[in-house]
Amino acid sequence: MGNKKLRIAVVGGGIGGLTIAIALKQHGIDCKVYEQTAELREVGAAIALSANAMRFYDQWGLGPAFDAVGYEASALIYRDGKTGRVIGNHPAGEEYKQRYGARYIGIHRAELQKILFTEVGMENIYLNKRLSTIDDSGDCAVLNFEDGSSAEADFVIGADGVRSKVRELMLGYDDYLYAGYSAFRAIVPIESLPSLPDPSAIQFWMGDGCHLLHYPIGGDRTGDVNFFLVQRDPTPWPHKEWVTPAEDGEQLKYFGDWHPAVVEMLSSAKVDTRWAMNYRMMLGRWSKGRMTLMGDAAHSIVPHHGQGANQSIEDAVVLADCIADMGKGTLSDMQNRYEYLRRGRARKVVYASVTTGDMLHLPPGESRDLRDARLASKEAMANHLDWIHGFDASNFAEPNEKQGGTWM
Ligand SMILES: Cc1cc2nc3c(=O)[nH]c(=O)nc-3n(C[C@H](O)[C@H](O)[C@H](O)COP(=O)(O)OP(=O)(O)OC[C@H]3O[C@@H](n4cnc5c(N)ncnc54)[C@H](O)[C@@H]3O)c2cc1C
Repeated sequence: MGNKKLRIAVVGGGIGGLTIAIALKQHGIDCKVYEQTAELREVGAAIALSANAMRFYDQWGLGPAFDAVGYEASALIYRDGKTGRVIGNHPAGEEYKQRYGARYIGIHRAELQKILFTEVGMENIYLNKRLSTIDDSGDCAVLNFEDGSSAEADFVIGADGVRSKVRELMLGYDDYLYAGYSAFRAIVPIESLPSLPDPSAIQFWMGDGCHLLHYPIGGDRTGDVNFFLVQRDPTPWPHKEWVTPAEDGEQLKYFGDWHPAVVEMLSSAKVDTRWAMNYRMMLGRWSKGRMTLMGDAAHSIVPHHGQGANQSIEDAVVLADCIADMGKGTLSDMQNRYEYLRRGRARKVVYASVTTGDMLHLPPGESRDLRDARLASKEAMANHLDWIHGFDASNFAEPNEKQGGTWM
């Protein structure tokens, strides 16, 4: 069956699901996006998009939409959490763009989704469609939704995130694991942060078993600051729910004696929830029958490299290219090619995200001193970032040294 005739159902209208719909549209291929929520709106959180993802939004002509609502970070700075001492300071902005070919921006998730669904077209997005089962035993896949409706498709893309139903249906069980970290996150107006040094930078404040990451968002150059606070606690996670109500001031438990700018930031926000950081093991296969996974559904990741959404966008570009190149080949050949091109890269980024968490949380001692020396070094920093941010997922025909050498 030719790709133009393929009826494609995308489950999940998040970052990856909307991006693959745009990537397919670039090839003149239609799809239908089924999203469980009544509205495409993620409240109260932001995201950092790096050049390995932003290059595609630029190529697709969406750059000006990002200009209006994205904040281009001026630098990437690492500090000691308690003293505020600068450990590493690496320019972003123009130098970053020159090196990696696109911008590094902070953006509110709701703004990102708005750009994406406007481009996809609401006529292609079906809201209030929470997938419950898929029957893949007949001539096509039948998707059944909780509202009692159903839809047919020749190919089902599971872009339904870290709590993926498609993955659960493929495996036959829910396989999430607690990563041993919990997090608080909030957005603070910049006016509330008079003590913050370098407010236009992406900054990591590091300590023993915990860290704070923040970056500016918003396109008006005054911006807000999005923060994300991680602690290796509690272990194990004592709740059934992934997100629980936070006690008043709970976010200061580990950070009360940190640098005044950190305490000021954490005290300026209303933080009412605490998030368990969960992940899933990498699978040997991302496809079964007519179903294929992408994004967090395929390779959910701890967020210490800020790459979950960026990897989802890379998946979308490659999967759309594989569908477009399918010609008269079989669905299974196309699925194999997509997995072959993506699994090795995603595995490396997942592993790097875990080790980055360890690196950020080192206690005082020789290892921390060595880490600090590495974070101060331009060359070591390039080794840490080049292979991720400089990667061009669409250039998969000829993997090369700069892109990490090998795919698998
Ligand atoms: C605190 C935190 C900070 C992060 N910061 C960054 C960052 O700075 N940069 C970065 O790249 N990544 C970051 N990430 C990771 C990033 O959020 C995810 O990796 C990314 O959203 C994954 O995209 P996705 O499309 O796979 O899934 P999602 O964006 O989660 O989308 C999944 C969609 O599927 C829908 N859905 C789920 N189940 C069903 C169902 N049964 N039926 C229909 N629809 C369904 C959901 O409603 C949702 O809209 C962060 C994550 C966390 C938790």
